[in-house]
Amino acid sequence: MSFAKNRLPARRAEFTSMTEPYEIIARKYRPMIFEEMVGQKTVVQTLRNAVAHGRIAQAYLFSGMRGVGKTSAARILAKALNCQSGPTATPCNQCEFCRAINEDRLTDVLEIDGASNTGVDDVRQLREGLRYKSLQARYKVIIIDEVHMLSKAAFNALLKTLEEPPAKTVFIFATTEFNKVPATIVSRCQHFEFKKISYRDLINHLVVIAKKEDISLSDEGAAMIAEAAEGSLRDAQSLLDQAVAFSGAEVKDADLKEILGVVSRELLLEFSGAVLGRRPQDIFPLVEKIIELGYEPRSFAKKLVRHFRDLLLVRTVDAPGEGPSLSPDDISRLREEAGKASPEELLRCLIALQNGEAVMRYSSHPQIHLESLLIKLCHFKDLVPLSELLRDIEGAKAAPASAAGPAFRAPAASSSPSGRPPGATLRPQERISASPPAPDPSVRTTSPQDLLPATIERLRAQKSSLAALLAKAESAAVKSEPLDIKFSTDKRFSVQSPVTLEVVFGADMRHTVEAVQAEARQIEKAAAEASGLRVRLKVVLPENHASAARQGDADLALKDAGVRKFVDTFKAQVLSVEKTKDRRKDG
Ligand SMILES: [Zn+2]
Repeated sequence: MSFAKNRLPARRAEFTSMTEPYEIIARKYRPMIFEEMVGQKTVVQTLRNAVAHGRIAQAYLFSGMRGVGKTSAARILAKALNCQSGPTATPCNQCEFCRAINEDRLTDVLEIDGASNTGVDDVRQLREGLRYKSLQARYKVIIIDEVHMLSKAAFNALLKTLEEPPAKTVFIFATTEFNKVPATIVSRCQHFEFKKISYRDLINHLVVIAKKEDISLSDEGAAMIAEAAEGSLRDAQSLLDQAVAFSGAEVKDADLKEILGVVSRELLLEFSGAVLGRRPQDIFPLVEKIIELGYEPRSFAKKLVRHFRDLLLVRTVDAPGEGPSLSPDDISRLREEAGKASPEELLRCLIALQNGEAVMRYSSHPQIHLESLLIKLCHFKDLVPLSELLRDIEGAKAAPASAAGPAFRAPAASSSPSGRPPGATLRPQERISASPPAPDPSVRTTSPQDLLPATIERLRAQKSSLAALLAKAESAAVKSEPLDIKFSTDKRFSVQSPVTLEVVFGADMRHTVEAVQAEARQIEKAAAEASGLRVRLKVVLPENHASAARQGDADLALKDAGVRKFVDTFKAQVLSVEKTKDRRKDG
């Protein structure tokens, strides 16, 4: 759990002095009958039926995470078997046996902690005890908690007992790590899987307890505790205990935020804003800030994973249900943020964060790890994993290049070993960078036809006069250009996909064109911000169309392998293109 225990000052005295000695909530609200158990509907139903019909198994195995009701269910089952008015699915909790079990003093019901009684001797001792029939109760019930902690020898001894089970004896094993329980044991048990307690159930439970205990707790506060408890009822209860210890009977949201280390949505949005807005320079101060606020980098990384998951959720699902701490307001703010990226991009960020977070657990420099991870995410659009690129090169080899799509050249460094001609063409970047279904061609927030309007919109806030000039354009077109691939020191390819935004004005607008051209830099910047692409601006007057066509020819020429090799070798530029009649005939 992520809350910092050392931040809790002892403020309990003022609260407890007013009431009787404080009994911890988990103990006070331990379920006494099956009906009182929170969640676990299926398990409870099956156990009740078994008792009601007298079909009692020799051994049960209860698996599931901590604090979801395994030992509570075991105790209730022990009572159900031994209640004076039983066996019954509804033990009375009044009779001698029920009370003795509740107070943990019935010798026939034995609760053993597997974690502290791991040895073979402990089990041997247990087996000795089992030779004797139950003293008073109907059934001997042996509950072994954390059974997976037993040593191998102890397991073998236990197995022998299970193979020749003493009469009227029921074993109940509980474990948080089912996969560590030997199959030989599992196969002799009836296995029940206890589920995480749902977020909704946790909140309801907290609200009920708060009411009974006269604790004032807001709905938001209950939601914060429920989220931090991560499906464990016991954790939710003990967090409420801590909140009361901290603030007294009036639990304030602000106090809870401090106790639970709840990261505000704003802070998380600042981080995702830097990543999706590709502002690596913001990362260092942001990480510095969370350290100063007292967050632990590892647990903060976990919150970031959750945050990007939420972003992906609102980006892909039209009506996300209210989940942990997702208020309608949160959803609309998340949606706005998520709109800055494609679902594929968010998915890649999420996966990278998850992987990074997993590695960070073992890192001795979690802060540096977090910084470098986030900076990497800022460059994510530029970085393509080598494996993906190689796979695509393979794909391109199989399928000959078509003239339809824009082509790019592979860097000389990668082409020589394979003997592939340097002019070989590959598919466009969008097919390379995203392993999930290929996104709409390259543009992040806008489609090609929207690029001019989006740029104008962007400029309106920055330089409205320029926006007004651009708005006079008659038409616009977006053209892809060959990809630019660079190797960087960390052996990754950086791939940029420049596009040309060609804006055509009316014949009588020479002045406008000149004014627009003079501000090309700023327009290109606005277009880049609007699209997430590198954009080159080309301003065209109708009379210039002839030269524009010539440029088109140059582009076409560059697609030719021979021309490209020449251009590459001599760092040349294509100035003009003349069609060669002979080649036409040949081709
Ligand atoms: Zn009873």
